[in-house]
Amino acid sequence: MSAAPVIGVLALQGDVREHLAMLTSVGARAMPVRRERELAAVDGLVIPGGESTTIVKLARHFDLFGPLHDRIAGGLPTYGSCAGMILLADRILDGTPDQTTFGGIDMTVRRNAFGRQIESFEEPVTVAGIDGGAVVAVFIRAPWVEEVGEQAQVLGRVESGPATGRIVAIRQQHLLATSFHPELTGDARVHEYFVTMVREGVPGAAAVSSREGGAA
Ligand code: GLN
Repeated sequence: MSAAPVIGVLALQGDVREHLAMLTSVGARAMPVRRERELAAVDGLVIPGGESTTIVKLARHFDLFGPLHDRIAGGLPTYGSCAGMILLADRILDGTPDQTTFGGIDMTVRRNAFGRQIESFEEPVTVAGIDGGAVVAVFIRAPWVEEVGEQAQVLGRVESGPATGRIVAIRQQHLLATSFHPELTGDARVHEYFVTMVREGVPGAAAVSSREGGAA
């Protein structure tokens, strides 16, 4: 792959601009994706926060649901933040009755898990594979991961307060998901981690542990 991978941001709804800016700041060529031909052009994809039910509706409207599902299942490195995490989950709780996802990560995610009354909050979360200390995690009507299958690797959990221990960062091979919104913090390390995943063209756990060991 060329030195600068092309990373798309699914641009149907949600905080697209912030992800484009973050990806560009860490050396990717970032582009919005609204059409199948744009999806075909990317080496990796970010599914931003927003509203998961709306994103699915718009994906169907733009004839993107099937192509997105297929590319994600076919190995396209993909990072989902917040609503994007919900959309990468194989199973969801507290979805709308007919809510569907693209799936890919063997996990059950609970929507609005921190309580509907909790609009937003932030706190430090240590993420495995990301050096330099905890990231400031911004949660906005966020999901958490309630149950994880064998394939998935937990990268980060809530470290204090009533939700202590809840999983908020996870990876399964070419797929990465966080409950929180790193694009809103000015700290580009999660995007940097994802760009590295895209560059490596993946398979997961080995690459993560070699980074933890300081090999790269
Ligand atoms: N609660 C939203 C959903 O269900 C996610 C919120 C977010 O992405 N900030 O899609």
